[in-house]
Amino acid sequence: MRWSRYFLYTSKEDPAEAQAPSHRFLLRAGLIKQVSAGIYEILPAGWRVIRKIENIVRKEMDRSGAQELHLTVLNPAELWQETGRWESYGNELFRLKDRHGRDYCLGPTHEEEITDLVRREVRSYRQLPLILYQIQVKFRDEKRPRFGLIRGREFIMKDAYSFDTDEMSAMMSYEAMKFAYDRIFKKLRLDVIMAEASVGQIGGSQSHEFIAFTDYGEAKVSFCEGCGYSANAEVVPLGRPAPQDEEEMPLEKVPTPGVKTIEELSEFLNLPASKIMKAVLYIVNGKPLIVLIRGDREIDENKLEAVLGTDDFRLAGDEEVKEILGTTKGFIGIFNLPEDIKVLWDNSLYGVKNMVVALNEPDLHYINVNPERDFHYGEFVDVCEVREGDPCPKCGGLLRVKRGLELGHIFLLGTRYSEPMKAYYTDQDGSEKPIVMGCYGIGISRIMSALVEQHHDEKGIKWPTPVAPFELDVICLNMSDGEMSSVAEKIYMTAEEMGIETIYDDRDQSAGFKFADADLVGFPYRMVVGNKVKEGKVEIQKRSTGESWDLPIEEAVPKVREMIAEDKK
Ligand SMILES: [Zn+2]
Repeated sequence: MRWSRYFLYTSKEDPAEAQAPSHRFLLRAGLIKQVSAGIYEILPAGWRVIRKIENIVRKEMDRSGAQELHLTVLNPAELWQETGRWESYGNELFRLKDRHGRDYCLGPTHEEEITDLVRREVRSYRQLPLILYQIQVKFRDEKRPRFGLIRGREFIMKDAYSFDTDEMSAMMSYEAMKFAYDRIFKKLRLDVIMAEASVGQIGGSQSHEFIAFTDYGEAKVSFCEGCGYSANAEVVPLGRPAPQDEEEMPLEKVPTPGVKTIEELSEFLNLPASKIMKAVLYIVNGKPLIVLIRGDREIDENKLEAVLGTDDFRLAGDEEVKEILGTTKGFIGIFNLPEDIKVLWDNSLYGVKNMVVALNEPDLHYINVNPERDFHYGEFVDVCEVREGDPCPKCGGLLRVKRGLELGHIFLLGTRYSEPMKAYYTDQDGSEKPIVMGCYGIGISRIMSALVEQHHDEKGIKWPTPVAPFELDVICLNMSDGEMSSVAEKIYMTAEEMGIETIYDDRDQSAGFKFADADLVGFPYRMVVGNKVKEGKVEIQKRSTGESWDLPIEEAVPKVREMIAEDKK
């Protein structure tokens, strides 16, 4: 491809809205363009990357025995009503009507449609097991789309679904997918950890996420270097600590004028934050709920959602705190509560002694509160955010916590969809049984972002060779120099003939401009045709390591081809 003819326009300016390096570089390199919030076009060079990612995924899926098909984007509401998700999916589902007033949605996932397809075709145990998959565009009306392709409202996914006769067989399909995913991420050159995960909206009995470590990921993964345990932080259980062995001091009211935050209180009383009980008022399904946690810990709202069994909850506003408790934030306590308020105790407060608690009155706190002595303990739950150094639930060692980006998510669904949708098969003994299912997603467009997050420097992207838009960038330093341009032209033609995916930078631009673009777009190899042509030489540069070699013109292309082949092994 000649760059002078190619639809690839870079930009020197950092886009103001882009924080994540992947977002910044994909925009600047001209690989994607924003249309509106969370909606992006993928331009030719970017699309080449997407196609390569898809093909790596496709190859491993096919190898696992899964069969590719193509489902519909437009899903009739009736299917979603059968599983109850038309309602429960909430605002993230894009709903629309056709000209006859019939309801549809734009599929964010395809359990309903595929289960409908399979129940119409599969009758007998002889037709199982079966794994079907597609690579398709999906829609989700995200509350906060951000970071470019990382959290978009329209995105490309590979979604696979397995159908088995029983749990045991379903488990084997699940394992086969785990194995395929492992190979996929290795081939994509992504550093990914498999972690236990919550089943969330999709449902089922077990699930795992594949998380790439990045600074801008929204997932937090905890892992133990001692025993190999790893899980999404939101599902890591934190138990009750051993009760504190401390003499109980007499309860005392102390004035704390103007002291509002935990930090201020801790400083004012000269006590560590862990001696303070923090009370947070939530509104759950319209009713108030107080969650108590140790002052030095934070509430994990994903854990809270799991405990409450609903996502219909939020922090109370200032007005609500005043109305319900007659106080202000910072002075929420647990004495003299209205009768109808439910209180949940986080495990971190188990067995604590001589704590500081607010009073629901301004500028006052109790000190030396001993929950067991001074009031009735409520229900203990685990809603504490996991942090570095917490105990590993498997071996008791120290957990580490890192940010990451969820690239894949697999679920053992059981009969979550086949039961309500009556997807049954006839077993060997003639009995009717629900098909046991699993589902397996990979975010294709998100992988493009993850690749940039893991492979870049301050100048731009460093595409791993297997997913690069082009493998080689031939740069002619001076297009008006007849010798240089004819050698560059020849190298370009030879490279193409040898099957190297080549872009030829024949633009009438300065050397510095071309080098900067080569670094920004991130082609794995570049061949510089410059003054050394007079000595019969050209320079090869490797983007990932910065290494370079001067080689005789005729040896250069075969050498690059060899290095590319090595990279793709
Ligand atoms: Zn461990």
